[in-house]
Amino acid sequence: MIIDIGNKKIKINNDTLIPIYDYRQIRPNDCEAGGMLIGSIIRNSNDIVIEDLTLPIKEDIRSRVKYVRSEKHNELLEQKWIESQYTKMYFGEWHTHPQNNPFPSSQDIINWMNLMKKSKTEAEILVFLIAGNSSFKVWIGDRKRKTIHQIYGGDYSEFKMVR
Ligand SMILES: [Zn+2]
Repeated sequence: MIIDIGNKKIKINNDTLIPIYDYRQIRPNDCEAGGMLIGSIIRNSNDIVIEDLTLPIKEDIRSRVKYVRSEKHNELLEQKWIESQYTKMYFGEWHTHPQNNPFPSSQDIINWMNLMKKSKTEAEILVFLIAGNSSFKVWIGDRKRKTIHQIYGGDYSEFKMVR
């Protein structure tokens, strides 16, 4: 899918969305899942592509209503950075919510703000995605302006077809 936000386009590859879709909390005891969104800047443009991600690992804290990503994901990111000849970089976070239509918690907003402040990445914006059971939403955080706003909300039909 491609989200056009005016001064740039953000492409999220299906290969990235499909594992997120598969982690939805459909069964009553499915825990929240999450990880990093990893992407690159398309050469000679402002556009970015989210083309990779990290998935939950045993070091993470997971419950029905909580996901805390462990620092160990940084090692996975480092590997991808090297394997991609230094093009794939940290671009944000994804996690699931046990809601059909997901809303960020106040803790989510605090976490995103902190990540915008502290992340060591060249990315000027970060992308945050929450996957609910029947729809998902995407926000971008502007690291200079310190603002977050929603850029997409919708169901999964757009990419399920090409699965
Ligand atoms: Zn959340």
